[in-house]
Amino acid sequence: MKKAISIILAVAIMISICSSAVAANEKCSCDMMPVIYVPGFGEPIYLNPGSDDEVSLFPPEQDAIDASIPDIVKAVIFGLLSGNFEAFGKYAINIAETMLKPAACDKEGNAPENTGVDYEPPVNDTHKQTAFPATEDDDEGYFCFLYDWRIDPLENAKLLKEYIDEVKAITKHDKIILTAHSQGNTVVASYLYLYGNSGIEKAVFLSPAYQGLSLIGSIFAQEYSLSEKGDDLANCLLGIMGYEDTVSQLVSAVIKEINKAGIVDGILDYLQLVLESQFDRVFEESLRDILGTLPGVWAFVPDEYYETAKSAIFGSNGEYGVFIEKIDNYHYNVQKNIVSILNEVKAGGTAIVIAAGYNISSIPVTKSDAAQSDYLVDTEYMTLGATCAPYGESLGKNYLQKNTACGHNHVSPDGIIDASTCAFPEHTWFVKNNPHHNLYEPYTDFIEWAIRYDGQPTVDSSNLYPQFIQISDGEIRPVQSGSAGETRSNGEIIITSLIMLLKDAFAE
Ligand SMILES: [Zn+2]
Ligand SMILES: [Zn+2]
Repeated sequence: MKKAISIILAVAIMISICSSAVAANEKCSCDMMPVIYVPGFGEPIYLNPGSDDEVSLFPPEQDAIDASIPDIVKAVIFGLLSGNFEAFGKYAINIAETMLKPAACDKEGNAPENTGVDYEPPVNDTHKQTAFPATEDDDEGYFCFLYDWRIDPLENAKLLKEYIDEVKAITKHDKIILTAHSQGNTVVASYLYLYGNSGIEKAVFLSPAYQGLSLIGSIFAQEYSLSEKGDDLANCLLGIMGYEDTVSQLVSAVIKEINKAGIVDGILDYLQLVLESQFDRVFEESLRDILGTLPGVWAFVPDEYYETAKSAIFGSNGEYGVFIEKIDNYHYNVQKNIVSILNEVKAGGTAIVIAAGYNISSIPVTKSDAAQSDYLVDTEYMTLGATCAPYGESLGKNYLQKNTACGHNHVSPDGIIDASTCAFPEHTWFVKNNPHHNLYEPYTDFIEWAIRYDGQPTVDSSNLYPQFIQISDGEIRPVQSGSAGETRSNGEIIITSLIMLLKDAFAE
């Protein structure tokens, strides 16, 4: 009898263990696969994050800003306006030391102890949310992986792995969807390099900075030029503030009109002289150990500038050997290798989507002409190789698509872009006039579609979202054929925008 009872007990225990094991392994059967969003640059950096004595290092707290105001005033009055470049350099160094130094990494590119982001672990409530983008303050939105933008993207990729594993565990899903904006793509690319595509259903790359940006490349390589950039500046501002915005049109047209007499060009030429005289000194004495030792920012230096930038900033200084090894590891294994990483991921069954802005003039600091961009990142880099007309021009009436092997048309209806030279022409979308920072309605309609599309979407999957799309009048729609640039004169733009602003003022 005793034996029988113990057998029954043993069986009962076995069954209960097995069934609880089954319960623990039970998968969620919902069709809302968890989406993890990796945002772009700029998450606040704190000293003692998450504690009561948390202090914001980036952006600096009001105290640090207030402490810098006298130096800013002196830099302008005793430096720029007095033509005393040495004085300008001195005050610029003071400003950098007060405002930025507390957030700097050490010479090996490590963040100082007790500094970082206010990390938030994933919570299961997020599982079925659909809002985009996820923000820190929203209680709605995708899972949002917050990371320290200063450090090596490969280190952040290891933290992303932990985050993904946690999301899978709490949601009871084996697969997740990754989507990233801007710098977040350097982290996702590093993740895919380190861990491959296992458990990743889809990767959506929005305005990706995984190939860097010529803005940072030209500054780090000291190949910048502000000379004769007045009109470029006007074009760039128009794109940043929005083509459809009345104030934006007015500001841009006024700058161009004033610049007919060379006034804006003159100011920029002067700033160029100041930079040429002081840049080396300010970098050597201060910025090298503030900006120059952030691996996350080095990931923004494109390949064509990379080695020149390293020589310009570190020269033969042996102190930075460990740092250089770290940034080389990212540069040569991830940035330079991105097409093979994505090819492998795709071959392993993960869907990929790339979306990038175009038809906005880049911030005019490079020696070459303004590039097609979303004002911050070059369209060619984001799209892994699109052929782009110079800003304000088209590829020409007689232009022939470079690659015709696939049999589709990949030239934009406005004649500005040839997408046939992209690494993934069937999976790369171009969003005309869309500035870098815009992740709002109605653009999110497209992003949501791409995220929730069952399987691998192509540029032929939907009539609503062909390869070239545009936001106008509050809607997202296919790009129409037409001219690349503005056809009205500056005078016409100034008068009509003033009338519209007056009308608005009286209507209120
Ligand atoms: Zn579920
Ligand atoms: Zn094709």
